[in-house]
Amino acid sequence: MGIPFLKEMRIGAYLLKQKLLGRERYPLVLMLEPLFRCNLACFGCGKIDYPDAILNRRLSVKECLDAVDECGAPMVAIPGGEPLIHKEIGEIVKGIVVFEPSPYLFFSVHLDGLKDHHDKSVCQEGVFERAVSAIKAAKAKGFIVNVNATIYDGHPPQDIAAFLDFARDLGVGVSISPGYAYERAPDQEHFLNRRKTKELFRDIFARGQGKQWTFVHSALFLDFLAGNQTYHCTPWGMPTRNVFGWQKPCYLLGEGYVPTFKELMETTDWDSYGTGRYEKCANCMAHCGYEPTAAHATLQQPLQALRAWLRGPRTDGEMAPEIALDAQRPAQYVYSDQVQRKLSEIRTAEAAERANKAAANSRVPMEAAE
Ligand code: SF4
Ligand code: SF4
Repeated sequence: MGIPFLKEMRIGAYLLKQKLLGRERYPLVLMLEPLFRCNLACFGCGKIDYPDAILNRRLSVKECLDAVDECGAPMVAIPGGEPLIHKEIGEIVKGIVVFEPSPYLFFSVHLDGLKDHHDKSVCQEGVFERAVSAIKAAKAKGFIVNVNATIYDGHPPQDIAAFLDFARDLGVGVSISPGYAYERAPDQEHFLNRRKTKELFRDIFARGQGKQWTFVHSALFLDFLAGNQTYHCTPWGMPTRNVFGWQKPCYLLGEGYVPTFKELMETTDWDSYGTGRYEKCANCMAHCGYEPTAAHATLQQPLQALRAWLRGPRTDGEMAPEIALDAQRPAQYVYSDQVQRKLSEIRTAEAAERANKAAANSRVPMEAAE
């Protein structure tokens, strides 16, 4: 059911090189968020609840390309917000790969389910149909298109299975992940806990046998979702650069920012994050934390990975042991401080710009007079 994450030889070669170099921590996918502004306001979103002054910020083309060079990950994902709102998105993409059909570029369109479910999920009527016609248009032009679906509590497994049939018929691969319980998401009631996630995915996968669904995940990540692996996350596997800087520790949690990738890797207290270590991580099974773990496990246990790929995730029998939560440290709430700091930085920069402009204007007549 899953396509092997290591299918791309470049990724496999990269992983092998890191292993041979004895590197303990290395990035797999750079999550480049050039802006937080979005054209939607989904109920489970943890990215758009910022004041306008922050939503209006954009990473420049240079900042984006510098981040790609600094990080050195073999893949770059450009989430957001809505990256297509960024006026220079064409230049950013061209600077990384090419903005034309290519095996190295794919669009990942947000689709959480079939029409009724998706429109409810993004809190707007008609979005599903617009997204599907955009997918068809991009495919007709020769682009590779996938969809990414976030799964919340209350989404019936038979509906998710029908959605996966639909994606298969549309000819798109699916990236699927349980929603992370963002502390700022407007709806806090529909996030899945770990037990429910595993049961739900077992139910979904059992319905998929013989159906040739295509997931854009490693077989071991799917096996993890079905409760057959006890994995710890790899928060540095998908490092995030956004308008605040490099985000500590991962794409989902913003617990501090540093100006360079090197500082992110060297100064983050990695051992204080993850399920069993930190309260905010208790229910996380999101792909950005665990797909890198599964990729690593694929290298470590290739036979197990091959078995999971050939047979699909096991959907019955005992589950792998769960990580105990009794020693986790309590959640810290740092959002407001971070926002205040950023706002005062923005105000200072704007005041300096105004002062520079005023100084430049006051010089013009004197120069003209000379
Ligand atoms: S979840 Fe994604 S699409 Fe929805 S509002 Fe947030 S950034 Fe936009
Ligand atoms: S469990 Fe890992 S990936 Fe998930 S929020 Fe915590 S640090 Fe991030």
